[in-house]
Amino acid sequence: MKYISTRGQAPVLSFEETMLTGLARDGGLYLPESIPQMSAGDIAALEGLSYEEVAFRVMRPFIGDAFTDEEFQDIIARAYAGFGHAARAPLVQLDSGHFLLELFHGPTLAFKDFAMQLIGQLFEAALKRNGQRVCIVGATSGDTGSAAIEAFRGLDAVDVFILFPHGRVSEVQRRQMTTPTEDNVHALAMDGHFDDCQARVKDMFNDFAFRDAVGLAGVNSINWARVLAQVVYYFTSAVSLGAPQRKVSFTVPTGNFGDIFAGYIAKRMGLPIDRLVVATNQNDILHRCLTSSEYKPDGVIPSISPSMDIQVSSNFERALYYAYGQDGNAVAQLMDELKAGGFSVSQGALQALRETFDSGRCDEDETRATIRDTWAASGELLCPHSAVGVKVANEARVPGTPMITLATAHPAKFPAAVEEASNVHPPLPERMSDLYERSERVSRVDNDLGAIEALIKERTGH
Ligand SMILES: *Cc1c(COP(=O)(O)O)cnc(C)c1O
Repeated sequence: MKYISTRGQAPVLSFEETMLTGLARDGGLYLPESIPQMSAGDIAALEGLSYEEVAFRVMRPFIGDAFTDEEFQDIIARAYAGFGHAARAPLVQLDSGHFLLELFHGPTLAFKDFAMQLIGQLFEAALKRNGQRVCIVGATSGDTGSAAIEAFRGLDAVDVFILFPHGRVSEVQRRQMTTPTEDNVHALAMDGHFDDCQARVKDMFNDFAFRDAVGLAGVNSINWARVLAQVVYYFTSAVSLGAPQRKVSFTVPTGNFGDIFAGYIAKRMGLPIDRLVVATNQNDILHRCLTSSEYKPDGVIPSISPSMDIQVSSNFERALYYAYGQDGNAVAQLMDELKAGGFSVSQGALQALRETFDSGRCDEDETRATIRDTWAASGELLCPHSAVGVKVANEARVPGTPMITLATAHPAKFPAAVEEASNVHPPLPERMSDLYERSERVSRVDNDLGAIEALIKERTGH
């Protein structure tokens, strides 16, 4: 299996190279040259299998000869062993025809653990084999960073630097990044928004001298291996509701478009998904784009669902690539226009997007009302991101097709917002109940590429 860039100008890579590289050298994102297919029979055969076994069957065709079957099975087993639920991604019913896919039973209580725990094991196996050392740099609106640090802490061949927007992540998120004691973990609090953090990370990848000197590797949701890991739970949940005989729809709380793009890949592989519904908070650029064709960032307004406070949605580039008929030049041109302020999606491409994607937005009051109402109606305590999903799903549902809303974080990760909405205090799971007592370790940095690069070089001895 070979991987190509959405902008058509970067070298074609293997799975392992793609995973270790992250962002392509032409600024694009990697995608498989072709999408492996699963027949109705292949999908039906997933029924009753463990999460790990489904993960193996769904992901195996994408990894080529990077690992033997035994190695890959072992990697998957270790990735999900630390989850607090035997099903890994249990499905619970909210209402008639509406289901919640709980993706928050991993070690940092957000769905990011599904991809990050797998990537940690994949990196460790690949680096051990070729004696390489890498420096992982990531930007986070809160959950990616904690998941990355948890996945890479203490690994020998990896340093991990995480940039997060100072003062704009929840206390639980911050503590999950600042309390690990391992020397290879570096939490950097940067002045600015998430988009600024993400921009500096992209700058570092485009600074080839720096990139090669420190052995930069990316684990943001631009990394293909992360998208791939997230394809799996679309299969497990759809099969448990009757796929391939019955179609299902999904609503996905969306920021960087990674999680929902994994659903698009699942659909392209053959899973009978009817609609994929993009749910945004008040930072609704994706909803505006899908309804008006205009993609114009106009500043982030902080919300109670901070992991979706994003205006530059990286993985949307992958969806655009397919919507433009796999034309890398067209995508490169759109991204140039974006640098100059924004772009307009062509009518043909917009139509292609709308064949699969619906969208909706949920403001702050609606988010709080949904947490309160869902608690009263079903006894499910939603985190604010999941509440955005449930509200949009309720509007997008059609009779006869089950709707699965992705619950992307545990309510205890956002206790203040949840308690304000519901009057219920969500306790941390037992296994992390001392989080508030552990001491913190963090470096403040300016929004300054040179200064950040200097710090990374110094800490890694380059
Ligand atoms: C990252 C995150 C999202 C958004 O996911 P994307 O893949 O960036 O669209 C939603 N909810 C939570 C809790 C998250 O951590």
